[in-house]
Amino acid sequence: MNSTATQPTDSARANAARDYEVIVIGGGVAGIYQIKRLADLGVKATLLEAHSDLGGTWYNNRYPGARFDSESFTYGYSFSKEVLDEWDWTEWYSPQPETLRYLNFVTNKFDLRKHMQFNCRVTSMHFDEHTDTWRLTLADGRSLRTRFVITALGILSIPTRPAFAGMETFKGLSFHPYDWPHDQPDLSGKRVAIIGTGATAIQIIPEVAKVAGRLTVFQRRPNWAAPLNNAKIDKAEMAKIRARYDEIFATCARTPGGFEHEPDRRVFSDVSPEERRELWDRLYDGPGFGIWLQNFVEIFTDEAANAEFSAYIAERIRSRVSDKALAEKLIPKDHGFGIQRVPLETGYFETYNRDNVELVDSQATPIEEITPGGLRTTDRSFEFDVIVYATGFDSFTGAFDKIDIQGSNGLKLRDKWADGPITFLGLMASGMPNLVMLAGPQTAATNFPRGAELAVDWVTPFLEHLWQHGYTRFDAQAAPEQHWHQHVKDMYQGVLMGKAKSWITGYNGNLEGHEYGKTRYNIYAGGGPKYARSIQKCVATGYEGVDLS
Ligand code: NAP
Repeated sequence: MNSTATQPTDSARANAARDYEVIVIGGGVAGIYQIKRLADLGVKATLLEAHSDLGGTWYNNRYPGARFDSESFTYGYSFSKEVLDEWDWTEWYSPQPETLRYLNFVTNKFDLRKHMQFNCRVTSMHFDEHTDTWRLTLADGRSLRTRFVITALGILSIPTRPAFAGMETFKGLSFHPYDWPHDQPDLSGKRVAIIGTGATAIQIIPEVAKVAGRLTVFQRRPNWAAPLNNAKIDKAEMAKIRARYDEIFATCARTPGGFEHEPDRRVFSDVSPEERRELWDRLYDGPGFGIWLQNFVEIFTDEAANAEFSAYIAERIRSRVSDKALAEKLIPKDHGFGIQRVPLETGYFETYNRDNVELVDSQATPIEEITPGGLRTTDRSFEFDVIVYATGFDSFTGAFDKIDIQGSNGLKLRDKWADGPITFLGLMASGMPNLVMLAGPQTAATNFPRGAELAVDWVTPFLEHLWQHGYTRFDAQAAPEQHWHQHVKDMYQGVLMGKAKSWITGYNGNLEGHEYGKTRYNIYAGGGPKYARSIQKCVATGYEGVDLS
């Protein structure tokens, strides 16, 4: 700004016309809790959701087999004793329809729908320096002005399809699991192709195999997976869980992953091979992420320990697949167990023993094109009625990139993050005033709601602090942001995961700029408790690192 004469006064900024004080973007797990906190404060706030109802991930992913990999009772919100008292989970790992019912239950209980607007896709967001407000444009042409924006966009909300030649010519049904049709298509007797073998496909494959006439799985790289070992929760068990809620959430707050699973702190080399085997047998046959998160810490940091454990899992896979050559195809050779996010499965490996299921090695014989009747690889043609592209997501930054976000002096977030996210504490991005992110990039990768609640419980008092002091603007300072970014990068060095060919390091072969080796520092790899201490320290120092005016 050149002339002080044109500078608005503080009171002009404070009184700047606006439709809302706060707009929350995204109506999933994080957005629902955030709008609840704002509603409790009586702030003029609204939540904008692009889809036609709330639920985010759990609204969209309606594929057969979609369910938690987190224990249901560690995934639910912890903020309301009433919700904890009133809601009964029916399975250890809740299926998608139950989770969506749960999110609706919470929303309706607190009468939050009146603060939500659906079918509202935000297409642009420009910051106005003169009034310290954001102007949001929606796909329906509306324009809204707000002081503060809180993003709750999800980390896996932009599905990526591959770019095979001829995809548009296919005459059957084809979709990404995120867009699975709400009126479940009848797959009985159908010829179905599933492309990809990530956590999503690993949930879908056993379910589709039960009904399809023929299922063909196109696997580029095999993925380590371990049994979910789901079980029902009856009334008596639910009562026991309910009595333990305080302890459950205290444990989740203490563990790196935000689960009840705690790492085995014994030193790997101090434990005899027999004892290691004993632990692994117990974990493999136990529920959920125990096999990953209750393991020795060295599994994540030491190549030799990881190799020994991976050999153990390979042996378990061999014992479940009848055809020896096929078993070898299902065992990853390019990375160790737990280096990528571990999919949990229910009968996945046994599915390949079925006569109606075939595995095609897409590395040996890549898909060349999609044809009107199916697809063609380098050595064969296939006929299909349905093709499922379970080919992953534009993780973390994809949902931000979809919005034209322009902050201070026209700075575009898309440009700032062209090579990956750079944030202050995973909460703010310098140059993007009055914008705060929930469970965004560079926050701890934990059991999602545990991280989301932590973020909302940080953001809400932060906004109260601004209101109490009459501040109309905040922005993260550049130097502390660089310092945080370096810390996030450093955290990748000590863990094998840092080299993974995975969405966590930003790899996605279907997206330009996301090639393997161009690491994007998407997560804070130091674990939940350490992350929580960092953001609490910022509060304790009076929001050091953030300019308030
Ligand atoms: P993903 O892990 O990124 O897997 C994508 C799969 O598609 C990979 O097997 C990949 O092969 C393959 N692929 C991608 N492009 C391809 C192409 N052009 N040709 C052939 N194959 C291609 O994605 P996801 O399975 O959707 O899982 C993403 C994340 O979602 C999970 O890691 C998890 O965090 C979350 N999720 C959670 C749950 C749960 O909590 N219950 C369930 C499902 C998913 P390459 O490996 O060779 O690239």
